[in-house]
This record gives sequence, C-alpha cells and structure tokens, in this order.
Amino acid sequence: LSVSIRRSARFLSTAAEPIYRNPPPIVRNLIGGQFVESRSKESIDIVNPATQEVVSKLPLTTDEEFRAAVHSAKSAFPKWRNTPITARQRVMFKLQELIRRDMDKLALNITTEQGKTLRDAQGDVFRGLEVVEHACGMATLQMGEFVSNVSSGIDTYSIREPLGVCAGICPFNFPAMIPLWMFPMAVTCGNTFILKPSEKDPGAAMILAELALEAGLPDGVLNIVHGTNDIVNNICDDDDIRAISFVGSNTAGMHIYARAATKGKRVQSNMGAKNHAIVMPDASIDATLNSLIAAGFGAAGQRCMALSTVVFVGGSRPWEDELIKRAKALKVNAGIEAGTDLGPVISRQAKDRIYRLIQSGTESGARAVLDGRNIVVPGYEAGNFVGPTILADVTSDMECYKEEIFGPVLLCMQAESLEEAISIVNNNKYGNGASIFTSSGIAARKFQNDIEAGQVGINVPIPVPLPFFSFTGSKASFAGDLNFYGKAGVQFYTQIKTVTQQWKDLPVQGVSLAMPTSQ
Ligand code: NAD
Repeated sequence: LSVSIRRSARFLSTAAEPIYRNPPPIVRNLIGGQFVESRSKESIDIVNPATQEVVSKLPLTTDEEFRAAVHSAKSAFPKWRNTPITARQRVMFKLQELIRRDMDKLALNITTEQGKTLRDAQGDVFRGLEVVEHACGMATLQMGEFVSNVSSGIDTYSIREPLGVCAGICPFNFPAMIPLWMFPMAVTCGNTFILKPSEKDPGAAMILAELALEAGLPDGVLNIVHGTNDIVNNICDDDDIRAISFVGSNTAGMHIYARAATKGKRVQSNMGAKNHAIVMPDASIDATLNSLIAAGFGAAGQRCMALSTVVFVGGSRPWEDELIKRAKALKVNAGIEAGTDLGPVISRQAKDRIYRLIQSGTESGARAVLDGRNIVVPGYEAGNFVGPTILADVTSDMECYKEEIFGPVLLCMQAESLEEAISIVNNNKYGNGASIFTSSGIAARKFQNDIEAGQVGINVPIPVPLPFFSFTGSKASFAGDLNFYGKAGVQFYTQIKTVTQQWKDLPVQGVSLAMPTSQ
C-alpha cells in the first residue's frame, strides 16, 4: 500500500502521520482524559495482515500506569454517577453522530490493522454504533420499580445504580463493535471504565475513545490500557474494579471468569463457537447457498457467529457442486482493494493453525472438495491469505470439527433426519448460534424448540440480535448470567437498591421485637 493515508490522532505519538512510517508511531494509553505515552520498554508490533508492514507499536502498559488508570476511573466515578442521566445520554447522542462522521476513518483503520474488507469494516462499526444508539435511551432502560402501600403507609421501590469502575477486555476480530458493546452501555449507566483493546488491532478503540472525549465524556470516565496476559490479570485482581466484560477465546475467557470471581467481581464472558447450519432438502436453494457462502467465508471466517459447519439432511452431494462454484467465485485480496470478498486472516500463526486443521481433517477422512491453501495474492504475496476451503464428509470425531477453526473453512456433514442433525449440533460443546434453512414451519419450530444454542436463525445465517435484545450465546460459548447489551446488559452494569419508606403519623405504640409483617 503506497498511498499515504493521513489521520490526525492524539492517541499516537505523532499527531498526523502516514499509516506506514519509520519508525512507526507509538500507541498511547488514555488515562484521566489524556493520551499519554507509556514508559514501558516492552511493546508489540501492530502489523497489517495483508502486507506485514508495521502500522504502529503498542507498549505494554506498566503496573504503575494501570494503577493510575484505575485511580482516574475511581476518582471520576462520584461526579459522573451523579451527572443527570439525560446529560449522560446526550454524550451518546453526540458520540453516535461523531462515529457516523468518522465511519470511513474507522473502517480504514480496521482494514489496515485487522484485514477485513472496507465494506465489512463499516459493518463492524455500524453494529457497534447501534449499541451507542441504544444507550441513548438509557433513562427508560434503567427504570426501577415501585409498589405503593406494601404495608400501611409504606411504599417500596427499587433503583438501578451504577457499580463503579468496570472493565472490558476485547478480541481482535471486531475492533470497533466489541468495544462499543461495552463502554457505551457501562458509562451511560453511570459507571467509569477501563478498556483493554486487543493487542493485535487497538486502533479503532483508540479512535472511538477520541470521539468519546470529543462527544463530551468527562476526563477519567473512559481509560484505555494495553497489553496481554499481565494487564488482564491486573484487571482481574484489582479490588477497585467491580465488573469485567470479556469477549474472546475460551482459554482466556474461563481463566478471567475464574480469577475475577475469586475477587467477587461480576463477569460476562462471551467465548468461542462452532456454529452449525442445518439444511433441509426443502430449503430454498439459491437463498440457502448464498447464505452459507456469506456466513461461512465472510470476514475470512473470523466471526464468532460464522456458520462454519453445515449439516445437510439427506446428504451434501446434491449441494456440493454449486457450493464449490460459488465459493470459487469469491475474490481473495487485501481488504483495501475494491471488489475483495475475503481479506487475510489476522496473523501467520492463525494461518498456520488453519492449515494444520485442514490437514488433520483430510488425514482423518474428510474430502477437501475445495482447498484454499497455498493461495497467492498478486501484490500482497506476504499477506496471511487463506482461500475458501470446503471439507466434505466431516464427522464429529475429527479435530477440525471439535476445534474452532476461525478461518474460511466450511465443514460439510450429513444426517438422515432432522432429529439426527439436531443431535449432532447439540452434542457440540459450543452453543453460540445455529440456523436452519427450510420451507417447513414444522421443521423450523422443532429446531427452535430442541436446539441448544443461544442465538437461533430460521432462514437467517448470522442471527446476531440488535441491541434491544441481548447477545445470548450459551453452553461453552458463554460464562456468566447477564449477557451483553439489551436489558441484560443494563442489568450487568447496574445493581439494585431497594428502598422501603414510611410516611405517616406514627401512633404511640410499644416496642415489638417480633419480625415486622405486613398484615
Ligand atoms: P483471545 O482470547 O486470544 O484474546 C482476547 C483477549 O484476551 C485479548 O485482549 C487478549 O489480550 C486476552 N488474552 C488472551 N489470552 C489470554 C490469557 N491467557 N490470559 C489473559 N488474557 C488473555 O481471542 P482472540 O483471538 O482475540 O479472538 C477470537 C476469539 O474470540 C474466538 O474464539 C471467537 O469465537 C471469540 N469471539 C467470541 C465472540 C462472542 O460474542 N462469543 C465475539 C467475538 C469473538
């Protein structure tokens, strides 16, 4: 990429620079409303996965800087929680406007650091923007309850109050959407926040933080720290942090869930997935094929709601040729190039892992009816590209089935009946999403009832709910009890205070030590 793309960025060590510069700019921390350079000697290179060029350097926030970030969030809390809810909402109204204004800049940053196509990157931002829009209605979302006259002259009501300092730990695959699942809901509820973006692509979160400050979020309400395991452990262990929102792999998610629980924190942990589609013989052919291609290969398969496994009831053979034809027509190229369908995967390690799982699939009996390994993209020979790959005759004992591949690999399985297909899906440990493609209402209803997955699609390939519902993964895809955004998201970031008040002239009466009862 030779074009010099300029961006003004307070979060970088140089104010307005081309994306590629030698030496690359340093990504700063956000502490107390200031973008400050870390004193850390250790850093991670943020690499463009299409070119391997170093976009920026990410110092690992030191323990001292982390404590300063928590201190800033803690100090900002009393004033922010007492800021009228209407004023907090107004910051979100402004933020959604600024995100729209800077949509192209955000998308370009995502494509540069994460690899997805510009159009897909805009979708990443837009799905997060919808959560900001949702947070604009927080006053009604966090309403309490009131029961009058629970006893003579006594009323009881409950108030939803913020928790204090909350934290968010993000994965690489949605650099804008997932930070936006977290801090807008948390801060509009009146909390202050410590965000730890993915160490692979922190740029979008940093731009969003700049926009939040521009929108009027007071200093210290949102703070950003960087790093990997050590900073995450600091977040889990810190006594001032009350709740953690996590999205990422099971290894990290279960570790965080357990470690933070010993400190009495709330945790919502969205984790890995193996999402299945069941295709019935009566499914609408064209629409189903398009859905399978889009949901299997979109974002190079790096979506937690990617449909990575298809169970064909009645066998996959009638579908295979057409599936291969459509997958072959997809254009693999750098996300920045017009007409690209699939960009690179995030890293060389991710590419190697995907290759290994394809290899293990073929060695255990799967047919590689389309093999996307060894693809070369002219002009981007160093990129981490994997072409669309389809493995047929996959069975549930294979490693490629048991592991989340997180790449553009579609697994095809077979079942004799809907019942058998549902039992294949339900025996998988993950439960993020599942879809059925059918023209039978009876089959669809049975699927909806019997399937063990949190997000169910009926003729819909990626059933990610809009923010007035919650993102409801289940089984090994989720730990915790209150999901992200929607009503559950508000409940997660608030605690209930229940007040009982008595306003009446009290008759003179003797002291009673019996438990008060309402008669
Ligand atoms: P990851 O778990 O490697 O990283 C996520 C975060 O956890 C990062 O900020 C990272 O620094 C931190 N981390 C990683 N390992 C850690 C450890 N051992 N101890 C402490 N912290 C650690 O995940 P990723 O590769 O960035 O993202 C891909 C994964 O995220 C996939 O499994 C995908 O399914 C999942 N995901 C799930 C959802 C969902 O809503 N269920 C959404 C997006 C992604």
